[in-house]
Amino acid sequence: MAECIFCQIVEGAIPAKKLYEDDHVIAFDDMNPQARVHVLVIPKRHLVSLDDTQDSDSVLLGKLMVVCAKIARERGIVDGGYRVVANTGREAGQSVFHLHLHVLGGRPFAWPPG
Ligand code: AMP
Repeated sequence: MAECIFCQIVEGAIPAKKLYEDDHVIAFDDMNPQARVHVLVIPKRHLVSLDDTQDSDSVLLGKLMVVCAKIARERGIVDGGYRVVANTGREAGQSVFHLHLHVLGGRPFAWPPG
């Protein structure tokens, strides 16, 4: 989608600090980090949110999670613990409507989330 910020990052039209890329997935630093480590892991294909997925996306969704774990190991946040978040819909706080997983670590987090 031409007007989607994350599609433009996938296409290279908007710069981002890419940490991982393969044929289907990219990961890059969040521009407004909420923790010492805050990385976004996204599919290259435009999907609005988790609610836009179906059975045929199972492999892609698994790949996204595996990339989250890889990023967490590379960024040194496994020992302290980390959180993977998929805000889905407006009341959950989703502001960019291209599916993405937040990988957050490097500080303690509260539960339940705000
Ligand atoms: P959410 O609120 O779950 O939709 O998360 C969207 C995230 O995208 C926010 O944490 C933003 O800081 C981040 N974000 C928005 N635009 C960019 C961008 N151009 N580069 C990196 N991160 C971005």
